Amino acid sequence: MSRVVLVTGGNRGIGEAIVTAFRDAGDTAIATYRHGPPPQPGVIMDVADPASIDAGFLAVEQHWGPVEVLVANAGITRDGLLVRTDVADLDDVLATNLRGSLLCAQRATRGMLRARSGRIILIGSVVGLSGSAGQTGYAAAKAGLIGAARSLARELGPRGITVNVVAPGYVDTAMTEVLGDTARQAIIERTPLGRTAHPAEVAAVVTFLAGEAAGFITGAVIPCDGGLGMGH
Ligand code: NDP
Repeated sequence: MSRVVLVTGGNRGIGEAIVTAFRDAGDTAIATYRHGPPPQPGVIMDVADPASIDAGFLAVEQHWGPVEVLVANAGITRDGLLVRTDVADLDDVLATNLRGSLLCAQRATRGMLRARSGRIILIGSVVGLSGSAGQTGYAAAKAGLIGAARSLARELGPRGITVNVVAPGYVDTAMTEVLGDTARQAIIERTPLGRTAHPAEVAAVVTFLAGEAAGFITGAVIPCDGGLGMGH
Protein backbone atom coordinates (compact mmCIF):
# COMPACT_ATOMS: atom_id res chain seq x y z
CA MET A 1 0.00 0.00 0.00
CA SER A 2 1.70 3.20 -1.14
CA ARG A 3 -0.09 6.35 -0.10
CA VAL A 4 0.55 10.06 -0.42
CA VAL A 5 1.40 11.25 3.09
CA LEU A 6 1.99 14.90 3.97
CA VAL A 7 3.86 15.68 7.17
CA THR A 8 4.04 19.34 8.17
CA GLY A 9 7.35 20.23 9.78
CA GLY A 10 8.71 16.97 8.41
CA ASN A 11 12.19 18.35 7.85
CA ARG A 12 13.44 17.77 11.41
CA GLY A 13 12.62 16.49 14.89
CA ILE A 14 9.54 14.32 15.38
CA GLY A 15 8.26 15.20 11.90
CA GLU A 16 11.41 13.85 10.26
CA ALA A 17 11.05 10.58 12.21
CA ILE A 18 7.42 10.34 11.04
CA VAL A 19 8.47 10.85 7.42
CA THR A 20 11.11 8.13 7.77
CA ALA A 21 8.63 5.68 9.30
CA PHE A 22 6.12 6.16 6.47
CA ARG A 23 8.86 5.83 3.83
CA ASP A 24 10.12 2.65 5.46
CA ALA A 25 6.56 1.30 5.14
CA GLY A 26 6.56 2.05 1.40
CA ASP A 27 4.50 5.25 1.36
CA THR A 28 5.34 8.47 -0.46
CA ALA A 29 5.91 10.76 2.50
CA ILE A 30 6.35 14.43 1.68
CA ALA A 31 7.84 16.78 4.26
CA THR A 32 7.01 20.46 4.45
CA TYR A 33 9.81 22.89 5.18
CA ARG A 34 10.14 26.64 5.43
CA HIS A 35 13.79 27.28 4.61
CA GLY A 36 17.13 25.60 4.08
CA PRO A 37 17.82 22.68 1.80
CA PRO A 38 14.56 21.02 0.68
CA PRO A 39 13.91 17.55 2.07
CA GLN A 40 13.40 14.97 -0.69
CA PRO A 41 10.55 14.96 -1.43
CA GLY A 42 9.49 18.23 0.14
CA VAL A 43 7.25 21.26 -0.39
CA ILE A 44 7.59 24.74 1.04
CA MET A 45 4.83 25.57 3.51
CA ASP A 46 4.36 28.01 6.37
CA VAL A 47 1.34 26.73 8.29
CA ALA A 48 0.84 30.16 9.88
CA ASP A 49 0.07 31.52 6.39
CA PRO A 50 -3.15 30.24 4.78
CA ALA A 51 -1.95 31.11 1.24
CA SER A 52 1.23 29.12 1.80
CA ILE A 53 -0.80 26.11 2.99
CA ASP A 54 -2.88 26.21 -0.18
CA ALA A 55 0.20 26.58 -2.40
CA GLY A 56 1.90 23.65 -0.64
CA PHE A 57 -1.12 21.38 -1.08
CA LEU A 58 -1.40 22.38 -4.74
CA ALA A 59 2.25 21.45 -5.27
CA VAL A 60 1.68 18.06 -3.63
CA GLU A 61 -1.44 17.41 -5.69
CA GLN A 62 0.31 18.34 -8.94
CA HIS A 63 3.37 16.16 -8.30
CA TRP A 64 2.01 13.20 -6.35
CA GLY A 65 -1.80 13.41 -6.22
CA PRO A 66 -4.25 14.11 -3.40
CA VAL A 67 -3.07 13.78 0.19
CA GLU A 68 -4.35 10.50 1.65
CA VAL A 69 -2.75 10.84 5.08
CA LEU A 70 -2.14 14.19 6.76
CA VAL A 71 0.10 14.50 9.79
CA ALA A 72 -0.22 18.02 11.24
CA ASN A 73 3.01 18.08 13.19
CA ALA A 74 4.44 21.59 12.75
CA GLY A 75 4.60 23.39 16.06
CA ILE A 76 6.41 26.02 18.08
CA THR A 77 6.73 27.06 21.70
CA ARG A 78 7.16 30.57 23.13
CA ASP A 79 7.54 29.72 26.80
CA GLY A 80 6.91 32.25 29.54
CA LEU A 81 4.29 33.13 32.13
CA LEU A 82 1.10 34.41 30.50
CA VAL A 83 1.33 37.65 32.47
CA ARG A 84 4.57 38.44 30.62
CA THR A 85 3.58 37.08 27.19
CA ASP A 86 3.05 39.60 24.44
CA VAL A 87 0.24 39.38 21.91
CA ALA A 88 2.57 38.65 18.99
CA ASP A 89 4.00 35.55 20.69
CA LEU A 90 0.55 34.33 21.70
CA ASP A 91 -0.68 34.82 18.13
CA ASP A 92 2.32 32.93 16.69
CA VAL A 93 1.72 29.96 19.00
CA LEU A 94 -2.00 29.78 18.21
CA ALA A 95 -1.55 30.45 14.48
CA THR A 96 1.05 27.69 14.12
CA ASN A 97 -0.08 24.97 16.52
CA LEU A 98 -3.85 25.36 16.36
CA ARG A 99 -5.04 27.37 13.35
CA GLY A 100 -2.28 25.98 11.11
CA SER A 101 -3.21 22.39 11.94
CA LEU A 102 -6.92 23.08 11.37
CA LEU A 103 -6.32 24.80 8.03
CA CYS A 104 -4.16 21.88 6.89
CA ALA A 105 -6.91 19.46 7.94
CA GLN A 106 -9.49 21.58 6.13
CA ARG A 107 -7.39 21.64 2.95
CA ALA A 108 -6.62 17.91 3.10
CA THR A 109 -10.28 17.11 3.60
CA ARG A 110 -11.20 18.22 0.05
CA GLY A 111 -9.44 15.31 -1.62
CA MET A 112 -10.31 12.87 1.16
CA LEU A 113 -14.03 13.61 0.81
CA ARG A 114 -13.81 12.85 -2.90
CA ALA A 115 -11.97 9.59 -2.17
CA ARG A 116 -14.31 8.80 0.73
CA SER A 117 -11.27 7.78 2.77
CA GLY A 118 -8.36 9.39 4.57
CA ARG A 119 -6.43 9.67 7.81
CA ILE A 120 -5.77 12.88 9.70
CA ILE A 121 -3.39 12.77 12.64
CA LEU A 122 -2.78 15.87 14.74
CA ILE A 123 0.29 16.07 16.96
CA GLY A 124 -0.88 17.36 20.32
CA SER A 125 0.99 17.20 23.61
CA VAL A 126 0.65 15.82 27.11
CA VAL A 127 0.36 19.45 28.27
CA GLY A 128 -2.86 19.89 26.29
CA LEU A 129 -4.59 17.90 29.03
CA SER A 130 -2.38 18.36 32.08
CA GLY A 131 -1.45 22.02 31.57
CA SER A 132 2.04 23.40 32.06
CA ALA A 133 3.14 26.55 33.89
CA GLY A 134 4.85 28.83 31.38
CA GLN A 135 3.07 27.24 28.42
CA THR A 136 -0.48 28.60 28.70
CA GLY A 137 -0.87 29.52 25.03
CA TYR A 138 0.83 26.34 23.84
CA ALA A 139 -1.32 24.17 26.15
CA ALA A 140 -4.44 25.99 24.96
CA ALA A 141 -3.49 25.31 21.35
CA LYS A 142 -2.80 21.64 22.03
CA ALA A 143 -6.04 21.26 24.03
CA GLY A 144 -7.86 22.96 21.16
CA LEU A 145 -6.62 20.26 18.79
CA ILE A 146 -8.49 17.66 20.84
CA GLY A 147 -11.85 19.41 20.56
CA ALA A 148 -11.17 20.02 16.90
CA ALA A 149 -10.21 16.40 16.20
CA ARG A 150 -13.33 15.12 17.94
CA SER A 151 -15.56 17.53 16.03
CA LEU A 152 -13.89 16.65 12.74
CA ALA A 153 -14.11 12.95 13.53
CA ARG A 154 -17.88 13.40 13.78
CA GLU A 155 -18.03 15.47 10.57
CA LEU A 156 -15.87 13.12 8.53
CA GLY A 157 -16.58 9.69 10.00
CA PRO A 158 -19.52 9.06 7.67
CA ARG A 159 -17.12 9.59 4.73
CA GLY A 160 -14.58 7.03 5.93
CA ILE A 161 -12.06 9.56 7.26
CA THR A 162 -10.54 9.14 10.72
CA VAL A 163 -9.15 11.99 12.83
CA ASN A 164 -6.98 11.35 15.88
CA VAL A 165 -4.51 13.11 18.15
CA VAL A 166 -1.14 11.77 19.30
CA ALA A 167 -0.05 13.36 22.58
CA PRO A 168 3.70 12.97 23.16
CA GLY A 169 5.43 13.59 26.46
CA TYR A 170 9.02 14.80 26.52
CA VAL A 171 10.82 13.96 23.28
CA ASP A 172 14.45 14.86 22.68
CA THR A 173 14.40 17.40 19.82
CA ALA A 174 15.46 21.00 19.24
CA MET A 175 12.15 22.09 20.83
CA THR A 176 13.04 20.58 24.21
CA GLU A 177 16.81 21.12 24.03
CA VAL A 178 16.31 24.77 25.01
CA LEU A 179 14.66 23.76 28.31
CA GLY A 180 18.00 22.62 29.75
CA ASP A 181 19.12 19.61 31.79
CA THR A 182 17.40 20.55 35.08
CA ALA A 183 13.95 20.77 33.50
CA ARG A 184 14.61 17.59 31.52
CA GLN A 185 15.63 15.71 34.66
CA ALA A 186 12.55 16.97 36.54
CA ILE A 187 10.30 15.61 33.81
CA ILE A 188 12.11 12.28 33.73
CA GLU A 189 11.52 11.97 37.49
CA ARG A 190 7.76 12.45 36.95
CA THR A 191 7.69 9.93 34.10
CA PRO A 192 6.97 6.36 35.25
CA LEU A 193 9.15 4.90 32.50
CA GLY A 194 12.00 7.09 33.76
CA ARG A 195 13.26 8.44 30.47
CA THR A 196 12.44 10.68 27.54
CA ALA A 197 11.06 9.47 24.21
CA HIS A 198 12.88 8.94 20.97
CA PRO A 199 11.13 10.64 18.01
CA ALA A 200 10.77 7.21 16.36
CA GLU A 201 8.51 6.11 19.24
CA VAL A 202 6.05 8.90 18.42
CA ALA A 203 6.34 8.06 14.72
CA ALA A 204 5.35 4.45 15.45
CA VAL A 205 2.06 5.60 17.01
CA VAL A 206 1.38 7.86 14.03
CA THR A 207 1.97 5.12 11.46
CA PHE A 208 -0.24 2.78 13.50
CA LEU A 209 -3.09 5.32 13.41
CA ALA A 210 -2.62 5.70 9.66
CA GLY A 211 -2.61 1.96 9.07
CA GLU A 212 -5.31 -0.62 8.43
CA ALA A 213 -5.15 -1.94 11.99
CA ALA A 214 -6.45 1.42 13.25
CA GLY A 215 -9.38 1.55 10.83
CA PHE A 216 -11.98 1.74 13.63
CA ILE A 217 -10.18 4.35 15.76
CA THR A 218 -11.34 7.96 15.45
CA GLY A 219 -11.64 10.92 17.81
CA ALA A 220 -9.04 9.34 20.07
CA VAL A 221 -6.14 10.90 21.94
CA ILE A 222 -3.28 8.43 22.09
CA PRO A 223 -0.56 9.29 24.59
CA CYS A 224 3.08 8.50 23.90
CA ASP A 225 4.50 9.88 27.11
CA GLY A 226 5.97 7.11 29.26
CA GLY A 227 3.04 7.53 31.66
CA LEU A 228 3.71 11.23 32.35
CA GLY A 229 0.12 12.31 31.71
CA MET A 230 -1.58 9.25 33.13
CA GLY A 231 -5.16 9.98 34.11
CA HIS A 232 -5.37 13.08 31.93
P1 NDP B 1 11.12 20.90 16.46
O1 NDP B 1 11.28 22.29 16.99
O2 NDP B 1 12.27 19.98 16.44
O3 NDP B 1 10.49 20.96 14.98
C1 NDP B 1 9.38 21.74 14.73
C2 NDP B 1 8.98 21.57 13.30
O4 NDP B 1 7.84 22.39 13.04
C3 NDP B 1 10.08 22.02 12.33
O5 NDP B 1 10.08 21.17 11.22
C4 NDP B 1 9.62 23.41 11.95
O6 NDP B 1 10.06 23.82 10.68
C5 NDP B 1 8.13 23.21 11.92
N1 NDP B 1 7.43 24.48 11.98
C6 NDP B 1 7.40 25.36 13.01
N2 NDP B 1 6.65 26.42 12.67
C7 NDP B 1 6.19 26.19 11.41
C8 NDP B 1 5.38 26.92 10.52
N3 NDP B 1 4.85 28.13 10.83
N4 NDP B 1 5.11 26.38 9.31
C9 NDP B 1 5.62 25.19 8.96
N5 NDP B 1 6.41 24.45 9.76
C10 NDP B 1 6.69 24.96 10.97
O7 NDP B 1 9.92 20.30 17.31
P2 NDP B 1 9.49 18.79 17.61
O8 NDP B 1 9.89 17.91 16.50
O9 NDP B 1 9.89 18.48 18.98
O10 NDP B 1 7.88 18.98 17.63
C11 NDP B 1 7.04 18.46 16.62
C12 NDP B 1 5.62 18.49 17.14
O11 NDP B 1 5.53 17.70 18.33
C13 NDP B 1 5.15 19.89 17.56
O12 NDP B 1 3.80 20.06 17.22
C14 NDP B 1 5.31 19.88 19.06
O13 NDP B 1 4.45 20.80 19.68
C15 NDP B 1 4.96 18.45 19.37
N6 NDP B 1 5.45 17.97 20.65
C16 NDP B 1 6.79 17.92 20.91
C17 NDP B 1 7.23 17.44 22.13
C18 NDP B 1 8.68 17.34 22.48
O14 NDP B 1 8.98 16.98 23.64
N7 NDP B 1 9.62 17.60 21.56
C19 NDP B 1 6.28 17.02 23.17
C20 NDP B 1 4.90 17.11 22.78
C21 NDP B 1 4.52 17.58 21.57
P3 NDP B 1 11.35 24.77 10.49
O15 NDP B 1 12.53 23.86 10.35
O16 NDP B 1 11.04 25.54 9.25
O17 NDP B 1 11.44 25.65 11.71
